[in-house]
Amino acid sequence: AAKTSGKRQWRRFRPELRENMAKRHDLRVRLGRAIEEEEFSLLYQPVVDLAAGEVVGFEALARWPHTRRGLVSPLQFIALAEETGQITPLGAWVLRNAAADIARLQSRTARPVPPYVSVNVSARQWRDTGFLGEVRRSLDISGLRPESLQLELTESVLVRRDDHIDALLRTLKNMGIRIAVDDFGTGFSSLRYLRDFPIDVLKIDKTFIDDIPEEPRQVALVEGIIRLADTLGLQVIAEGVEGQAQRELLTSMGCGFGQGFLFAPPMDLGESETVLLRHDDAPTFR
Ligand code: C2E
Ligand code: MG
Ligand code: MG
Ligand code: MG
Repeated sequence: AAKTSGKRQWRRFRPELRENMAKRHDLRVRLGRAIEEEEFSLLYQPVVDLAAGEVVGFEALARWPHTRRGLVSPLQFIALAEETGQITPLGAWVLRNAAADIARLQSRTARPVPPYVSVNVSARQWRDTGFLGEVRRSLDISGLRPESLQLELTESVLVRRDDHIDALLRTLKNMGIRIAVDDFGTGFSSLRYLRDFPIDVLKIDKTFIDDIPEEPRQVALVEGIIRLADTLGLQVIAEGVEGQAQRELLTSMGCGFGQGFLFAPPMDLGESETVLLRHDDAPTFR
C-alpha cells in the first residue's frame, strides 16, 4: 500500500529515513570540525619482503579517534569525505603527515634502503587539480625522497582512458614516485589499464588471500595474478596475510611482499619504529 500512495505517505512509514539523514548531517558537520582541528591520527602497517623477512615500507592508515560513538571506520569517514569534497583537505593532511612521519623514521635507521611510505589516495583526490602540488609540497616540507613515496589508487580510477590521470601518473612516475593498485581484483575495470597506465605495484586484495592454501581455485587465481605481474614487471604485495601457511605458499609462488596481522597490525609511529629497529641489521620477520 505504501508504495502506491505517494511520496508523503511513504515518508510517514519510514521515519528512520529522516533520522538517517540527520545522523549523516551530524557526522558531516563533525567531520568538518575534525578536519579543521586536525583530530585525525595515522597508523602504520609494515610491508614485508616475504622471502627475506625484512620490513621494506609502511602503509599509512587514517584514524578518527575522538568521536562520541567510539571509533568510526575509515571506510565510513573516507566515503563520506569523498561525497562531500572534504577528502581534499583530509587527504592533504594525510599526505603531509605520512611524509613527515616516515622522513623522521628514516633518520633513525641505518638501513641502506630506508623504508618507504604508501599513502591511500581516493578517486576524487586523483581528479583534484591541486593534488600534484600537494604531493610536491609534502615532499618539500618533509624532505622525503620521492623514491620513498608510494601512492595507492583503486581500479575505479582507471576504468576508462583518461588523459588527465594518465599525465598525472606519468609525472609522478618521472619524479620517482611509485604507483600501486590497491584491492587488485575487486574492481570492475578491465585489465587493459595495466597496459595503458604506468603502474608499478599490484596489491592483491585480502579476499583472494583469505582462502589460500585450502581453496584450489583461489590458489590458481593468486598464482595467475603473480605470474601476470611478473611478466609485466610489476611488484606484488599480498594484503591481509594472517597465517604462516599463507605466507609460505605466497613465497613459493613468487609473491614478493606481504602485509597482514601475521606480521603486524597497523601501529602508531612509536611502535613502528620499535619494530623497524628491533633488528636494524637483521631480518625482522623470519
Ligand atoms: P586498504 O587500503 O585496503 O587497507 C587495508 C585494510 O586492511 C586496513 O583497514 C588494515 O587495517 C586492514 N588489514 C591489514 N592487515 C589485515 C589482516 O591481516 N586482516 C584483516 N582482517 N585486516 C587487515 P583500515 O585501516 O580499517 O582501512 C580501511 C580502508 O580505508 C583502507 O583499505 C582504505 O581503502 C581506506 N583508508 C584508510 N586510510 C585512508 C586514507 O588516509 N585515505 C584514503 N583515501 N583511504 C584510506
Ligand atoms: Mg591501501
Ligand atoms: Mg587494500
Ligand atoms: Mg580497501
